[in-house]
Amino acid sequence: RTNEWRAGAKHRVFCQLPNGDWALCTVITTSGDESVLKVPEGKVLRLKTESLQPANPEILDGVDDLMQLSYLSEPSVLYNLQYRYSQDMIYTKAGPVLVAVNPFKKVALYGNEYIKAYKNKTMDSPHVYAIADSALREMKRDEVNQSIIISGESGAGKTETAKIAMQYLASLGGGSGIEYEILQTNPILEAFGNAKTLRNDNSSRFGKLIEIHFSTTGRICGAMVQTFLLEKSRVVQCAVGERSYHIFYQLCAGAPTTLREKLNLKKVDEYKYLKQSCCYSIAGVDDAEMFRAVTEAMNIVHISQEDQDNVFAMVSAVLWLGDVSFTIIDNENHVEITVEEAAETVSRLLGCSIEDLNLALSKRHMKVNNENIVQKLTLTQATDTRDALAKALYASLFEWLVEQINKSLSVGKRRTGRSISILDIYGFESFDKNSFEQFCINYANERLQQHFNRHLFKLEQEEYVEDGIDWAKVEFEDNQDCLNLFEKKPLGLLSLLDEESTFPNATDLTFANKLKQHLDTNSCFRGERGKAFTVRHYAGEVAYDTSGFLEKNRDLLHMDSIQFLAKCKLSIPQTFASKMLAQSDNLESVPYRPSVADSQKLSVAMKFKGQLFQLMQRLESTTPHFIRCIKPNNLQLPAIYGQELVLQQLKCCGVLEVVRISRSGYPTRMTHQKFARRYGFLLLEDVASQDPLSVSVAILHQFNILPEMYQVGYTKLFFRTGQIGNLENTRNRT
Ligand code: ATP
Ligand code: MG
Repeated sequence: RTNEWRAGAKHRVFCQLPNGDWALCTVITTSGDESVLKVPEGKVLRLKTESLQPANPEILDGVDDLMQLSYLSEPSVLYNLQYRYSQDMIYTKAGPVLVAVNPFKKVALYGNEYIKAYKNKTMDSPHVYAIADSALREMKRDEVNQSIIISGESGAGKTETAKIAMQYLASLGGGSGIEYEILQTNPILEAFGNAKTLRNDNSSRFGKLIEIHFSTTGRICGAMVQTFLLEKSRVVQCAVGERSYHIFYQLCAGAPTTLREKLNLKKVDEYKYLKQSCCYSIAGVDDAEMFRAVTEAMNIVHISQEDQDNVFAMVSAVLWLGDVSFTIIDNENHVEITVEEAAETVSRLLGCSIEDLNLALSKRHMKVNNENIVQKLTLTQATDTRDALAKALYASLFEWLVEQINKSLSVGKRRTGRSISILDIYGFESFDKNSFEQFCINYANERLQQHFNRHLFKLEQEEYVEDGIDWAKVEFEDNQDCLNLFEKKPLGLLSLLDEESTFPNATDLTFANKLKQHLDTNSCFRGERGKAFTVRHYAGEVAYDTSGFLEKNRDLLHMDSIQFLAKCKLSIPQTFASKMLAQSDNLESVPYRPSVADSQKLSVAMKFKGQLFQLMQRLESTTPHFIRCIKPNNLQLPAIYGQELVLQQLKCCGVLEVVRISRSGYPTRMTHQKFARRYGFLLLEDVASQDPLSVSVAILHQFNILPEMYQVGYTKLFFRTGQIGNLENTRNRT
């Protein structure tokens, strides 16, 4: 068996098939610069030898840590993940990082038996449970807060993974059912913050951090949720084939008769906001059933019946607002709202008069030269104002829900200050068309990537220092240049965007030109034709289209709308508006912006940057654990593994970077003993009596391994990539 393997080992290589995929094959013969290969289905190919990549010996097939691979090339990493994936081993380590490949089917890896096995350490294959378990252990052992940072692109499995981690932590119990309450926040936040998109039937349209607190006895005692950048625009507009937020469909499908009548609910395909995307249901999902699950979850996190009624009144009001239409009243296209069912229902649900609603949607108060004037709105302006109001209502509802959840899970006096945070945040995005949302998301990922790099660097460094190695010879990539491009003041992307957002006459084109004018010499930036620009991110180049940047960044809700909400009897929007008005009193005046509350003078990008800094600060004080989720196909189907797709994600989420980082250092490590035992017999002189270190050094000399290719530590030898291969070949030939 051993001989067979040895003979075959040299001949296993990866070759690239015409479709670009790598295939494991065996070399039949090599002549000149060409090799004849046998590929998996028995076919024979003739290829340039230099295009082949060495494959690892068979005993390394499917190892559970990629770092164990002798050859850490792209094809061997891809092959190893695929090998495991095909056997439902969806988790693999890449050094300190857990890689999770989405199975898109139920896999038998979860539940109490598995939780117990990981708790008792009777199981040690890579798993989310294992990560959650080390977080717990390290929290107790080092008395340091921990974080589990989950990333990956849409549909890769971040939210599911976060729930699996929460499930493990919750299994420790708490008391008074707090752990169950924490799990029940998921259906609520998903109902209001998730939607079906073309990429994922249950796509989170917000980022989320949940901080789970523990008592001195190591049990859960509370939690706190923070959300980031909810995609509000989905409420009023979504692409064909996608849906708006789940709750709209759940309410319409699941509300009992009395509620249905009270809220004047229609069928989903009768609302303008929902109709535009021609998509009303999700395969395998019963919205009515989900509605019951959501109300049940609301009961569990102590949202009162009255509050729940208010919540659903708002949901219905948002839907009906989309149906509010306008009548043109003069030949300048000025409008008033049409008094009919939609307007009547909205005002009844929000608790305002139709006249108030009409004022808010058809007129605008302005101050010009210190004089108050009232401007009539045109049809387009009124429609925009209506949509902005719908978005604001929904956003205030989401914010309110998060607040309620936090009140209910509040740690109070029981807190010990020790916590595990789980971050489920959108991964790097690069589409055909990239807008303001991608701009913010990718900026956040740039920050997280830096955090990731620094952590890995620290880990590596610690190991070198421990073994007395000169780590100055290890190079690490840094994305500081790209971060500077975003953050530098006054000439960075964010500052320039904000500056341009305050000019009343600025357009997306003037913004694009401004960027080109100031940043064209920056190596991470490239101006493109028209309204576009390209950023060189760590994960690749992304071309952004500035269309809509300024408007999305300003995200204005006019003073009239805020005052309107403040007058509504419904408490959630009223409180929201009062808060906005109160804040505006405290803020100093900043550059000109027409009739907006001062509290809005902070742009979306600036608020996001603030949130992000706060997040990073919080993460800095924790021991991080990284999980990278990978989506193996775009069809949301099991058993399909697209190499190209996986490879691109491995690059984007830094897994290949981990591999690269370790290669730029000394990735192969072997104790002196092991090294001497394994290769000692190759020495020409007799060394039986010598100590392992001397034997090792003698081997290194005999094989002319260059001094820059290795370092001798106190306990181990450290090698650059590929150095062991030569020794192994000699050993195998012998
Ligand atoms: P988004 O960024 O769009 O929110 P995401 O990374 O959060 O995407 P999820 O919603 O977690 O993706 O996963 C998408 C789908 O993949 C799930 O609805 C589920 O069907 C499937 N899935 C993910 N992880 C697993 C798993 N461990 N076991 C079974 N199915 C899974
Ligand atoms: Mg998600």
